[in-house]
Amino acid sequence: MGRLFIQTLSGSKIFKCKCCKVDSASHDDLISKDFQGRFGRAFLFRNAVNITTGPQEEKSLRSGLHIISDIYCSSCQQILGWRYEKAYEESQKYKEGMFILEKERLLKEG
Ligand SMILES: [Zn+2]
Repeated sequence: MGRLFIQTLSGSKIFKCKCCKVDSASHDDLISKDFQGRFGRAFLFRNAVNITTGPQEEKSLRSGLHIISDIYCSSCQQILGWRYEKAYEESQKYKEGMFILEKERLLKEG
């Protein structure tokens, strides 16, 4: 195992991994708080840091069929949510490349 490079976000409001407290996403990149994750409420972000992605899989969500990959905290490996890789419905295309982070797995700072 190599040494982990942990990215630090700037900004007054940062969402952190609840488990190991490294930065996960900035409030500036928050798109919506009104998403449903695996563990309840989830947030949609334009960007996330300190994550690793799992294999792509097809998933049928409330908003239709998508290809997603699970995302994990690169520091403690807990599952944080997923990334939208592909959306089939035209109205959902904006989510491609965006990140769902589970509220339950995050700490809000600031
Ligand atoms: Zn973590």
